[in-house]
Amino acid sequence: MTLKTVHTPLLSVDGLCTTFGSGDVSIPAVRDVGFSVSKGEILGLVGESGSGKSVTLRSILGLSRRYGDTTGSVLWKGENLVSKNEADMRRIRGGEIAMIFQEPMTSLNPLLTVGVQIDETLKSHTGLTATERKARAIEMLDLVGIPAARSRLGEYPHQFSGGMRQRVMIAIALAARPKLLLADEPTTALDVTIQAQILDLILSLAQDFDMGVILVTHDLGVVAQTCDQVAVMYAGRIVEQGAVREVLRTPQHPYTVGLMRSVPENVPPRTPLYSIPGTPPSLLSLPAGCAFAPRCPQRTDLCAQSRPLLATETGQRAVACFNQVKNRGGAAA
Ligand code: ADP
Ligand code: MG
Repeated sequence: MTLKTVHTPLLSVDGLCTTFGSGDVSIPAVRDVGFSVSKGEILGLVGESGSGKSVTLRSILGLSRRYGDTTGSVLWKGENLVSKNEADMRRIRGGEIAMIFQEPMTSLNPLLTVGVQIDETLKSHTGLTATERKARAIEMLDLVGIPAARSRLGEYPHQFSGGMRQRVMIAIALAARPKLLLADEPTTALDVTIQAQILDLILSLAQDFDMGVILVTHDLGVVAQTCDQVAVMYAGRIVEQGAVREVLRTPQHPYTVGLMRSVPENVPPRTPLYSIPGTPPSLLSLPAGCAFAPRCPQRTDLCAQSRPLLATETGQRAVACFNQVKNRGGAAA
């Protein structure tokens, strides 16, 4: 077990909101999201599909404002990225802050060799010479465990298997030695063994480079194994956050409790797997009170009327619920 020193945050996100739509249609995809990430720290962002995880990551990098409106504060080196112009953001993206996207094939260019793609990143974001860039490219492929790195530089993405392609994406993302990595479900499409290898890789690279990581996943098992902090999202908002050990050991939001009960490792063998009843609400017609209330086993009249706030002190345990689950293990019936 390693002891982590306490760092000042690399990235502090506060009151982040992204809204899509125009005219009468308004889609509040991300609402009042806040968290911070320190050097070498891994923050897990979890929640069902559509809860706003990818939009949160894209909003940090200024990618959501192409289609929507992003407000709030994304503090990076003392500056708010939300108010930076596109040219500044292009310098930061792929340089100091790198992102691995959810869809591997759409973020690799099928027409360019892997070597050229790594080289492009290095050209834009480092002052390395051609010789140094080539050496770095080989080093990166080596580092992510691609055998015969030197000869594979000349190959195209389709010549790599799914797992190897994911490694190539990580190599490109990390080539310019970013200080922060935003990884959007980097292993979802892969089989379990490769998934574990890629996660181990991200973990060890985070440690070696003292890099902060935001890891988006819908898998609480992955969070338990890799993350230091966790934020649970529901319908665009964080509903519970804190240190992974605390949140997973004693989940206090009924939604987190439900997610925990849906993890196969948490139930005895041959027990039907729990799934939270109902479906997430449409962002176009959110309930007046707590967005989770219609599905919540703990709901009271109050929950339908007002929305519980999240106490957002940085790094502290926070839960947005009027009826927090207090009992250990939180077995909400
Ligand atoms: P997830 O947690 O699965 O990553 P997303 O962050 O991708 O969820 O999406 C959150 C919500 O925002 C979804 O309802 C999605 O349909 C909506 N959304 C995402 N991108 C856009 C867009 N460009 N225009 C309109 N709605 C969007
Ligand atoms: Mg997503």
